Amino acid sequence: MYCSNCGKELNDNAVICPGCGVPTGKNGIPAQEKMNVLAIVGFVLAFFIPVAGLICSIIGKNKADEYGGNGKSLATAGIAISIAEIVIIVLSVILIIALAFTGVLAGLSMWA
Ligand SMILES: [Zn+2]
Repeated sequence: MYCSNCGKELNDNAVICPGCGVPTGKNGIPAQEKMNVLAIVGFVLAFFIPVAGLICSIIGKNKADEYGGNGKSLATAGIAISIAEIVIIVLSVILIIALAFTGVLAGLSMWA
């Protein structure tokens, strides 16, 4: 078959044209209608496993162009939420360490 956009000869199984990136509409599903699963998974994971959510969201955002832009805003939201979660976790750990350290100092001062 040939690309409907640029006329390049394509592999019959090609989902997008390697020449111009336009979806071929293969498998009866137009590429624009395909769900960007990684973006959705990344968004959900962002709330529970922020590091995994961040990775999935970044890949999902990179792949969004293959899906005709589907999931790009969702992936961007997933990245933002993941980073926010990671920052909160890091700050919490620092706070806990600081409190524990203060507690140790207080404990030591009792013995002094
Ligand atoms: Zn093309």
